[in-house]
Formats: sequence, structure tokens, C-alpha cells
Amino acid sequence: MKQQRAISQRIARLRPSATVEMTEKVRAAKASGRRILSLASGDPQITTDPRIIEAAHKALQAGDTHYGPVLGDPRLRNALAAHEKRRSGAQYDDADIIVTPGGKFALLTALMGTVEADDEVLVPEPGWVSYGPCVEMCGGKPIILPMLDRIDLAVMEAAITPRTAAVIVNSPVNPTGRVLSQEEIDGLVDLADRHNLWIIFDQVYSDLVHTASFPSPQATAKGRAFTFVVDSFSKTFGMTGWRLGHLAVPPGLSKPVSRFIQHSIYCVPGAIQAAGLKALEIYDEVVPGYREMFRRRQSDAAARLDAIPGISCVAPDASFYLFPAVDTDDRALAARWLDLHDVASVPGSAFGGAGAGHLRLTVTAPDREIDEALTRIASAGIL
Ligand code: PLP
Repeated sequence: MKQQRAISQRIARLRPSATVEMTEKVRAAKASGRRILSLASGDPQITTDPRIIEAAHKALQAGDTHYGPVLGDPRLRNALAAHEKRRSGAQYDDADIIVTPGGKFALLTALMGTVEADDEVLVPEPGWVSYGPCVEMCGGKPIILPMLDRIDLAVMEAAITPRTAAVIVNSPVNPTGRVLSQEEIDGLVDLADRHNLWIIFDQVYSDLVHTASFPSPQATAKGRAFTFVVDSFSKTFGMTGWRLGHLAVPPGLSKPVSRFIQHSIYCVPGAIQAAGLKALEIYDEVVPGYREMFRRRQSDAAARLDAIPGISCVAPDASFYLFPAVDTDDRALAARWLDLHDVASVPGSAFGGAGAGHLRLTVTAPDREIDEALTRIASAGIL
């Protein structure tokens, strides 16, 4: 038998996503009849509002079933620019907004537009599992910088070489839920400016921030000139399966960057974009309630976890994550809780070595399930 030709090294050497693997493990355990209580899911588990579903339905019935504009529906791009203006004060021209199938593709599009073969991209960790692989898919090299509690600008500056093209910055951070301070953002903008770097700013949790302000690099014209903003409808509106997000690019770059869209997906389906437009219309009616629900759950769960010997947990200022420190091996603990107590979590080290000694827990399951999971964790403890 002839041996099959190998798949590309580009794909073969990618690490599988630890969070997707955990989701699949939980799915398989449930399918085999086990009742798993999941504190592992990065899906907010909010039912998409029926008005959003209706908007997609109507668009399909009205015949929106064809190729559409590559950059996205002009009405949606206008609404996204207005949404960003309201949040950060950044005045984007509609022309600088590109609608994408989710935040993940917005990230890939930004990297495709900025990274040359063998370029280096700085990636603080613990960080979201897809940053490194996306950089590698674009031919670049992720430079991992362990930074658990704050962006250490001196360490970041020391890591810059003539090959450094960009830095990926995420706020609020997955997995910790931390919101970067104004001082950190100002320092990053200054650093990127001095070293002529792109900032790729992932703000997919920015609608779930509990504090009054949300600092971002695009808030000043200086930062906006070299920042790509990655955003998404997934977490804000419970629309993970709709695959809808956007990329805001530095002034004038949408045309060249959109060549990647033209030659890959062409466009996001019109009905999905109609749903997004409706979601933004009802934002004030629905999002504050989601945000408050997650804040309440984070604060309750953090207090219960913190009371367990060997676990220390403080509720962060955003998102639906908790990142408790555990006084033991995080991978072994997550495996034990799943195997012996049917509680799913993600080990912090799945988000990079800097996350070791922590677990990432989410408060996206129904209240009842979170309550039961925390009761089991309290009686299991960490030993
Ligand atoms: N960025 C971060 C930090 C995330 O946690 C996620 C999803 O988990 C994404 C981007 C991508 O989200 P989506 O592609 O669903 O918009």
C-alpha cells in the first residue's frame, strides 16, 4: 500500500486547543450518560434573544441569500463604529471596519495583514489558547512573555528584536478576567510607537466589564494609528454559534487587508449580519442584565472558592471567568475533579506556563449547576 502523503507542517505542528479539547471531553462524557457539571465552558450560555433570531429569519425570507459586500453590510459597519465611539470615544470611519465570522477570524485577519514570514509577535501569558497557533499559521513566531498580574513593559521591551512586528494584547483577559489599567495601556501605546510595532487588541469581553471605564489603545488617535481591534458578538449577546465579529483597522488599511477576506471567506452571510444589527439595536435592553448576572455569579462563586483551604480566589472586574490559585498541581486537580466528582474545569497551565497553579472556572452554567459544582468542589477540596 502506498503511504499517504503527509499533511503540511504548518498544520501538523499546531498545538490542539486545550479549551476545545476540554469541551469535547465534557461532550463525550455527557454522551456516555455521565452528568457533568461544567465550570469549563467559554460559551456564555445565554439564549440568543428571539428578536435577533427573527431579524436573521426575515433577512433570509427577503432574499438575502447571495454574496454581499466583502467588508460587510454598510449598516452594520456604521452601527459598529457608533458602538465603539460610545465605548472608547474612538471615532472610526465606517471604511475602517471589517465584518468577520467571529473574533477568531478577525484575529487571523489582523495577523495575516501584519506578520511576514519569521516575524516575531509578542504574546503575554497566561493568554487565550489561539494566539500562538494563529501567529504560526501566518508564518510568524510567537514570543511568549509570562505576565500573570500585569503587563511588565520592561520585560516586553527587552524581548523586542528587529524581527518583532506586533504585540497581541487582550483585555479583559481570558483566562483571568483582568481589565488592563490605563497606565498599562498608555505604556503599551508608547512602547509600540517607539519600536514601530502593531498592537493587536482583543477586546471580545469588553461589553462585560463591571468597572466604569475600559482603557483601550484605540482611544487616542496616536494608538489608533497602529492598533487592530478584534471584537465579537459571541460573548456579549450569547451568539457564539452565529460566528459574527469584526476587525477595526488603522485608518486606510481595510482595502489591502480585505484581500485576505476576498480570497478566503468572501463575506459573512447577510442574514447573520442582519442579526448583528438587531443585537446592537437592543444592546441597552439586554446586555446590562447579562453583565449583572455574571458579576453576581462571579462574586458569589469567588467567595465560596476562597473559603476552601488551599484555594484563593478574588472576583475579577470583567468577563465570566474566575482564575483561582490552587495550592497543588492544576492539571492533576482538574483531572481529579472531572474523573471523581464530575466537575469540569480547565487547568491554568493550558493558557501557558504562567497560568500554572491556577484553574480557569466559568460561571456560565445555570445557577443551580454552578451551586452544585461548588458544593462538590468544597467537599472534594484540593487533595
Ligand atoms: N478572543 C478571546 C480572548 C476569546 O476568549 C475568544 C473565544 O473564546 C475569542 C477571541 C474568539 O471568539 P469568537 O471567535 O467566538 O468571536
